[in-house]
Amino acid sequence: MRPPSVDRHKRVELAGAATYIVGGRVRLSTKTLGSADVTAGATTALEYLGDAPARGAQMAVSRSAPTQTAPSRFIPAEVSTLTAGTVAGLTDAVTVESYDRGLVQTSERTYTFLQPDGGWGWSNAGLIVGDDEAILVDTFFDLANTRELLDAIERTVDRPVRRLVNTHHNGDHCWGNQLVEDATIVGHKHCRDAMLAVPPSFLAAVKAGDDDTDAVRYLKRAFEPFDFNGIEVTPPTVTFEDNLSLYLGPREIRLQYFGPCHTLGDVAVWVPDERVLFCGDLLFYGSTPLVWEGSLHNWIDTVDALLELDPRVVVPGHGPVTGADGLRAMQDYLRLVVTEGRRLKEQGLGPLDAAGELDLGDYAGWKDSERIALNFMRLWLELDGRPASEPVNTGEAFAAMAALA
Ligand SMILES: [Zn+2]
Repeated sequence: MRPPSVDRHKRVELAGAATYIVGGRVRLSTKTLGSADVTAGATTALEYLGDAPARGAQMAVSRSAPTQTAPSRFIPAEVSTLTAGTVAGLTDAVTVESYDRGLVQTSERTYTFLQPDGGWGWSNAGLIVGDDEAILVDTFFDLANTRELLDAIERTVDRPVRRLVNTHHNGDHCWGNQLVEDATIVGHKHCRDAMLAVPPSFLAAVKAGDDDTDAVRYLKRAFEPFDFNGIEVTPPTVTFEDNLSLYLGPREIRLQYFGPCHTLGDVAVWVPDERVLFCGDLLFYGSTPLVWEGSLHNWIDTVDALLELDPRVVVPGHGPVTGADGLRAMQDYLRLVVTEGRRLKEQGLGPLDAAGELDLGDYAGWKDSERIALNFMRLWLELDGRPASEPVNTGEAFAAMAALA
């Protein structure tokens, strides 16, 4: 029997590298764009149906040629291809001003809800406003913070949110999804897969437990402000593997995938007509970037691709609204990590000793600078040729960060 949603789709067209799907509520287009080394191949858009998301029926609504390079098998570029020259010449944008919580207008038809101080769990959300509806970019870590976001949107914008994009799977970007009722949720396939793998109950149990190691105390302190009870993981019901375009009337909103960076499934949301770039956690600004599964090397290259878009307004996943300088500032941090990390590793140091050795310079002032320990653990795996999908040991990483904090 055919899945019922087949009837909802009025038309499916395949036209070269571009695929357009027109549904009753959602119009999507997919096409292959750039970054050939990482995402060579094509896009498969999937729609998920059913009450139990993990077991829900999957229906391929469009398919072009098979992907040639699976992101999970992504092999980072050689370190030698990086230019270390910029490490010494940090941009002025490294020093980040304080900012306020709340909804701010970031262009004529975009808004951003900012959550200072941009540290653990304090993420930003974006909104792209059309004539009749709005597209939301990410929800927050818990229900109370997400309610505040949605209330601010209702007061200020007064457009229904019919589509929600999750930039990646981390809970601080999607654990409020259940409150965005009647919205179609869109995300990268890796975002959906990873979202279903990590239940909020895990963090709730850690918070409620009486384990008193340094690592757990650090974790409890970081997540103390959040309430993980009552969260039902509500994953994307439309996924893609490369790039995807959403439309607000004639306006194209591009969801762009560049391969593993902060996670395996990070997506940037680009609003070309107003040159606004919602980076999700492809940008941390004034808050230290971190990577569990992913690739520091590819992340550096991805920032170049984001800069090529020539954005006027750049919204980080964590930190205040910035411009291209903010992207360059974080890229210099990542270069520092890779260049200095490689040098220290060649001296025979392990990642944790190396983290204690490294002088972060101005980046020592960025929030949660102890994440250098985690980043070096990731880098050591990368330099040993391990795949982007191999996670850093979470317990060891939190213990190392707790020791440095
Ligand atoms: Zn985040």
